[in-house]
Amino acid sequence: MEKIYLDYSATTYVDEEVVKAMLPYFNRYPGNPSGVYSSGREAKAVVENCRQLVADCLGAKNKNEVYFTSCGTESDNWALKGYAWANRDKGKHIITTNSEHHAIKDTCGFLEKNGFDVTYVPVDEYGMVSVEDIKKAIRDDTILISIIFANNEVGTINPIAEIGALAKEKGIVFHTDAVQAAGHIHINVEEMNIDMLSMSGHKFYAPKGIGALYVRNGIKLEKLIHGGAQERNRRSGTENVPYIVGMSKALDMACKRIDEETKTLTELRDYMIERIEKAIPFAKLNGHRTKRLPGHVNVSLEYIESEASLLSLDLAGIECSSGSACASGSFEPSYVLTAMGLRPEVARGALRFTMGRTTTKEQIDTVVDELVKIVDRLNKISPLYKG
Ligand code: PLP
Repeated sequence: MEKIYLDYSATTYVDEEVVKAMLPYFNRYPGNPSGVYSSGREAKAVVENCRQLVADCLGAKNKNEVYFTSCGTESDNWALKGYAWANRDKGKHIITTNSEHHAIKDTCGFLEKNGFDVTYVPVDEYGMVSVEDIKKAIRDDTILISIIFANNEVGTINPIAEIGALAKEKGIVFHTDAVQAAGHIHINVEEMNIDMLSMSGHKFYAPKGIGALYVRNGIKLEKLIHGGAQERNRRSGTENVPYIVGMSKALDMACKRIDEETKTLTELRDYMIERIEKAIPFAKLNGHRTKRLPGHVNVSLEYIESEASLLSLDLAGIECSSGSACASGSFEPSYVLTAMGLRPEVARGALRFTMGRTTTKEQIDTVVDELVKIVDRLNKISPLYKG
């Protein structure tokens, strides 16, 4: 049975060209970038070239504003804890939304336990935050605004440039968790007034275990990882040269193809939504219809618990998710969907299909046909379904 993978928002495979670019750095260039000998200097030069590539993709003024980390979670933790700690004399108030990824949500929870005050601005029925609501939440002691660029569960894209403009006007530092957006949506940190931005390689065809944090020059940030003087003495730990090469190559490739991939994936996404809505009349699209990630579909099938449909789809060789991968396995309805106002029984029926470079229209047809059969079968045994 040929498998159909529709969980690209959870992770992507590593692109062949990215693997090729990485391979020499596992064995041919042995040097530690901190070494003063020639192979060390070579490794350092490679890392600096990669930093430039990432900076260019983000529209950053200076490559020194890019710091390599181990993943998106680390970047999020560092941005929030590092900024809060280093600027605690200026204020204790942080603004975020009630629909962030756990990497932000749980970090905010930690900061609350440690004397900071966090306002969780609600999102609307599409999972989008309003600039006006953020404005209302600003206080004299607000030091940081952190808003997810594009939601991992429902794909909705927030008005990031408008939030950036507001933060700039009020003199508040603005961080965005762009883990789902980087490499998929045009980003320009200067034009969008983004002061800090988190990204993760495995969402755009680089390996898992490599990320970056963009930090505008001049921003005070405490270290999260203490030790050596790597990354301009701000993030310790010997640089993972092959992975840094892989992530920058992957981001460069993704950014060059953004328009082409957006077109293909938006067409596939809208085709899938249209087919599901026609074939399963009680299916409800979650998230914004147009302001959403190109290859991202999230639908709720009321009366059908997503665990049941996920398992049936898996048996048919179709891999997708019931929300964010990190929350799978939990039977609690997703906090993102309930924050959007979905009733728990509708939220529990949510399925997320996310597409990527290998996805075809034929695959989408197979998945929808299979889904219709599964829904039919599960409805017959559902005590809730009234036909
Ligand atoms: N932020 C968002 C929006 C995500 O979707 C994810 C992962 O799914 C993360 C942060 C965490 O990234 P990583 O898996 O690299 O730690």
